[in-house]
Amino acid sequence: MSIRHCYIHIPYCASKCPYCDFNSIAGRSDEWTVYVQALLQELRRLPTGPYDTLFMGGGTPTILPPELLSTLLSGIRSHIDLSDDYEWTCEANPSSADAERFKVLAEHGVNRVSVGVQSTDDATLSFLGRAHNAAEAHHTLAEATAQFERVSADIMFGLPQQTAEDLKRDLNLYKQHGITHASVYHLTMELGTEFHARYKHGEQLNCSEQQSGELFDCLMTELATMGFHQYETSNFAHSGAECRHNIAYWTGQNYHAVGAGAVSTIHGQRCTRHKHPKQYINSITAGQNAIQHTETISDIDRINETWMLGFRLQRGVCIQHLEQLGITQDCWQQQAGALQTDGLIDFNNTHIWITRAGRAVQDAITQQFFLDTED
Ligand code: SF4
Repeated sequence: MSIRHCYIHIPYCASKCPYCDFNSIAGRSDEWTVYVQALLQELRRLPTGPYDTLFMGGGTPTILPPELLSTLLSGIRSHIDLSDDYEWTCEANPSSADAERFKVLAEHGVNRVSVGVQSTDDATLSFLGRAHNAAEAHHTLAEATAQFERVSADIMFGLPQQTAEDLKRDLNLYKQHGITHASVYHLTMELGTEFHARYKHGEQLNCSEQQSGELFDCLMTELATMGFHQYETSNFAHSGAECRHNIAYWTGQNYHAVGAGAVSTIHGQRCTRHKHPKQYINSITAGQNAIQHTETISDIDRINETWMLGFRLQRGVCIQHLEQLGITQDCWQQQAGALQTDGLIDFNNTHIWITRAGRAVQDAITQQFFLDTED
């Protein structure tokens, strides 16, 4: 079956946020043009499609000047066919996205933008090392919603001393701008980040577990009041506004990828490209494939990923998919029965899912279903 999804990575940002462990790098504007050329060179090696979803992430794709963004998008369109009902997302940041760039995106067929807002409070944005302030965030959201029907905004919670009132102020942006998709992430101390190093030296950079639970309850209630339903651990949408690209990923579908550090998964082969843009450019322009690491996903890993990603979804893990992987109901009935009695999971004929009560211990539940890789 043809592969219907493709991820496109732009690794550049205005500055490096201290909590970020994405493959992103500050500045380097002198290499953006040659990076875009290399990216398009790699893209032209992919099947032409048609594709149901494209996702341009980063990094900050909107850091590219409008003309270069236009070159990138035209290059994509000249090679890639899109299905009739395609979804093409571009991530955008308030520090760089503007009406002109949104126009360029829309003119080339992008039909969904995801804006990294994180907070609507200047002091919090400064704490997070973001390159924008609250006024710029609102301005960008107003420009995004003027151009696109489908807009998502990212918000972060779990910050030190963050109160429910603070979070409600941030969440209010969805109502204020008529935004129908919300990605709400808990601040985590990722290994290798500046925050992680400072945290290890005793700095208080996140909130207590109790505060975190209260904030989570607050966001569930607030977003429900605004018509959102949670469809994934960190993602909420109005009906029909869910991100189809990410759902494809969470349901274990094959996808292509291009760009520095981008990961593709095709028929059990997971390929990771060189993370460093310079190395990626050199490899592609030398006619190589820029693949730094290839992993064959074992049957056990595939089953465990199916549990892990599927349990992130509100609808849960597809039982038919499990059966295709050789996991019949007999294999999980015992754990499921006990957890169902405790109200932590539930299942029907098609899916098995974690309940709202179970979300607090999602990782522990998921691990109960894992197969031992030593087996
Ligand atoms: S803007 Fe996004 S990708 Fe870039 S450093 Fe900040 S969090 Fe990371």
